[in-house]
Amino acid sequence: MFMGPEQFTSSIDVEIATTPSRIISHDIEMTAARLSDLAPKIRDHKFLVSGGAGFIGSWFSDVAITMGGSIICVDNLIAGSQSNVDHLLANPRFEFHQADITTFQLIESVDYVVHMASIASPPLYQLFPLETLDSGVIGVRNLLAYASEHPVQSFLFTSTSEVYGNPPDEYIPTPETFNGNVSSYGPRSMYDESKRVGEAYCWAYAKEKNVPVRVARIFNTYGPRVDSSNPSQYGRALIKFIHQALQNEPITIYGDGQQTRSFCYINDQLVGLYRLLLTEGVDEIVMNIGNDHEVTIAELAEMIVELSGSESEICYNSPPSYNVFDDPKRRKPDIELARSLLGFSPEVPLIEGLRKTIEWTRTTDFIHQKTV
Ligand code: UDP
Repeated sequence: MFMGPEQFTSSIDVEIATTPSRIISHDIEMTAARLSDLAPKIRDHKFLVSGGAGFIGSWFSDVAITMGGSIICVDNLIAGSQSNVDHLLANPRFEFHQADITTFQLIESVDYVVHMASIASPPLYQLFPLETLDSGVIGVRNLLAYASEHPVQSFLFTSTSEVYGNPPDEYIPTPETFNGNVSSYGPRSMYDESKRVGEAYCWAYAKEKNVPVRVARIFNTYGPRVDSSNPSQYGRALIKFIHQALQNEPITIYGDGQQTRSFCYINDQLVGLYRLLLTEGVDEIVMNIGNDHEVTIAELAEMIVELSGSESEICYNSPPSYNVFDDPKRRKPDIELARSLLGFSPEVPLIEGLRKTIEWTRTTDFIHQKTV
């Protein structure tokens, strides 16, 4: 049975304030300041952003608008949420299309294309396997075809650390040269393989049609608005744990909690993505963007409980099927390429990013409780 996006929109989601919260506004300003050397390439330039109402896409749009750019945002709202961009709708430099990127057609030219449309949360992409595959395959092809007919200054495809699958220890931290240990026929295959094919399309269009592509392999990223479509049920571990902690509910660790992830705060991720898109001379490149500070999921749970002052108990549960098979045991990026070519360096420690995300979630819940 096909389930439409409206069935995954939580009541919290639709109650988010129509102006960005203090935390978000401050972070947008900080990010814009870190990108000030690139301001001439953003101001008065037009970006086509697929997935522009999603977590990273909406922040990306906020930064461009703040710095004087224009956004054409395309989002089918399966994983994204209009509430992420409500505050931008009245801005003449922001244009919103609720549409699927596999069929969206644009006649006018833009300066940059950024393909972010995707369903990145494992529980959510289990529900939408075909849409997940299509955004990385048909969606990327549609946009690359557009860029080959309407030349752009650069084209950014946001791929994922999942293209590496479950790397062996000798590939931790994982460099871009590791080709992956990925199942094409498992519960993560719709996401992992769609991004792998998406990368291959980028490569083919760069070679055949001279599209100036850059591919970012995004590692776990978090912050306000992450998984805003029903975070407690369909969100990834970090935001799910925050919701559980704020409600003093058990924290649901899957397995022994010794699996690791390296969490990148949204400000750092945006700086990496903008630098990859706008730096001269880095066409036809694939680059990890993330934070290389690795923690176990058990450590993450403990930090969240402590920082939120929660009474939640940390529980160890049997994992769902998509985590029994193919759950990466360790994930940590090698970010030397981004450091050397972009001068990229993550600046927000996990404890600080968690504080902000917890505070934002608490405030959002507060808004929800006040308005219903
Ligand atoms: N995880 C967990 N409890 C949850 C959700 C996830 O322990 O309620 C684990 C999951 O098994 C995985 C890690 O946390 O090992 C990160 O999962 P997440 O959902 O954040 O997405 P992933 O990084 O795997 O894409």
